[in-house]
Amino acid sequence: MNYNHIKPGTLEIYCGPMKSGKTREILHKIDKIKYLENCNFLFIKPNIDTRESFIKSRFSEMKEQCETVDENNPNQILSLIKSNLDLLIIDEIQFFSEEIVKVIEKILKTGIHVVVAGLDTDFAGKGFGQVPQLMTLATHVHKLSGICEYSGCSNSSIRSQRLIDGKPAGKNDKQVSIEGQNNTYESRCLVHHEVEEE
Ligand SMILES: [Zn+2]
Repeated sequence: MNYNHIKPGTLEIYCGPMKSGKTREILHKIDKIKYLENCNFLFIKPNIDTRESFIKSRFSEMKEQCETVDENNPNQILSLIKSNLDLLIIDEIQFFSEEIVKVIEKILKTGIHVVVAGLDTDFAGKGFGQVPQLMTLATHVHKLSGICEYSGCSNSSIRSQRLIDGKPAGKNDKQVSIEGQNNTYESRCLVHHEVEEE
């Protein structure tokens, strides 16, 4: 095994706000790994991830190595792990329920290299799902940032701005809300991140 790319039993996290290139980073990782001989990897994303973007085409390209899992039942992941697996990659990790921490810990103990990507903070700037807890298990945390989308600003963004009909969402809104017609997201810097006090 090539230990520059595969580090058995360790967890690596790519996190940051919306539009900070997290998925691109992990797909880039897969691109490199494809050239390693005898490296078996599995790419998992949660059911809730409905993005029509490039990830769908990548998913069909690598069909055999991709699975979709119910985010409310992370234990499903354990049944997908084959004995010869070297690398497990999970995207949109923030959507998985609490048990994801135990599941990943179990997988790490078997010597598999685990790479996850996701939002570290929610629309209100609070830790998203189990991502903060997973950071305590990680050997490497890659913090990514984007560019603030607030008009006239181009600072580094570290927050995800939820807008409802163009206005900042209220602080008591639910944590998970997929982008839709009235509900949009922007990558914002700390100065331009707004949450409505309710
Ligand atoms: Zn800004």
